Amino acid sequence: MPSTLDEVRTSLKQRLAAARNTQDVRAAQVEYLGKKGTITAFLKQIPSIAEDQRRQFGEQVNALKLWAVQAIEQRLSDLAATPQNYDIDFSLPGQIMPIGKKHILAQVEEEVESVFLSMGFDIEEGPEIEQEYYNFEALNIPADHPARDMQDTFYLAPGTLLRTHTSPIQVRTMKRQSPPIRIIATGRCYRRDAVDASHTPVFTQVEGLVIDKGITFADLKGVLQEFVRGVFGSSTNVKLLPSFFPFVEPGAETAISCPICGGKGCPTCKNSGWIEMGGSGMVHQNVLREVGYDTSTYQGFAFGWGIERIAMIKYGIRDIRMFYDNDLDFLVQF
Ligand SMILES: [Zn+2]
Repeated sequence: MPSTLDEVRTSLKQRLAAARNTQDVRAAQVEYLGKKGTITAFLKQIPSIAEDQRRQFGEQVNALKLWAVQAIEQRLSDLAATPQNYDIDFSLPGQIMPIGKKHILAQVEEEVESVFLSMGFDIEEGPEIEQEYYNFEALNIPADHPARDMQDTFYLAPGTLLRTHTSPIQVRTMKRQSPPIRIIATGRCYRRDAVDASHTPVFTQVEGLVIDKGITFADLKGVLQEFVRGVFGSSTNVKLLPSFFPFVEPGAETAISCPICGGKGCPTCKNSGWIEMGGSGMVHQNVLREVGYDTSTYQGFAFGWGIERIAMIKYGIRDIRMFYDNDLDFLVQF
């Protein structure tokens, strides 16, 4: 217990310097300035001091009290300015902070892109808000065409819509440059689909387009074969099945040998050994004419697949909604 005013001042100064947080300062405040505090005790002594010394002692005690109040305030504001006053034990194991990563769809999209880049393709982009002309008319889908119903569309204004496929990028590219063309286009597309395990109103497509002299169906199959081997593994095969899409003639549905069972048959391929992946075909002559290409010189093929579908087959994901639920327990697995 300090016995003189100077000792009180020194000991409080040390207490405040050692204080690591607000609680330490508040405890010192009670100890020195509280009802039973050290400085308060000196204040209480003043009336009992001999008259000739009382005035001087009183001034000294009050000066000490004033100093103590200010010192405590100062220490509190210093601590507030430096909020972290922990005892740091450097020998403790570190806390591992969770690290963000790319979404599974972005990963698969980049993987697909890298396969095509290795085959010499360029990557093109285009607007998600698109003109009806590029989304439909230029792709041989006039206003009264039944295929417009297949692609129930979000219209933003007359003539303006959210693209239903990435094919408008093909049209924009062909109008901008002359053959040879060898591109893929990836991006989000929108259709007014009811949400279920295999449909969402927003999905991601990858489309390919090759235009040059002497391009044939065999080139299409060769490129798709290389693509699926790059993404699903070297033993995966491609099969083309006759199908119809307005912007290709002839058109084909593309199936791959089931990478899960290796073609033997499993629930994913419905025991057929094959999985349908998306459309393809030789670019329709009406499309080539629309962009001003000479159809007697140039031919080409195009295909369009869903990135979600590729990811679902590759990783055994059964419900497309999982890509868009933002469930971290799901997303951290990839
Ligand atoms: Zn299978």
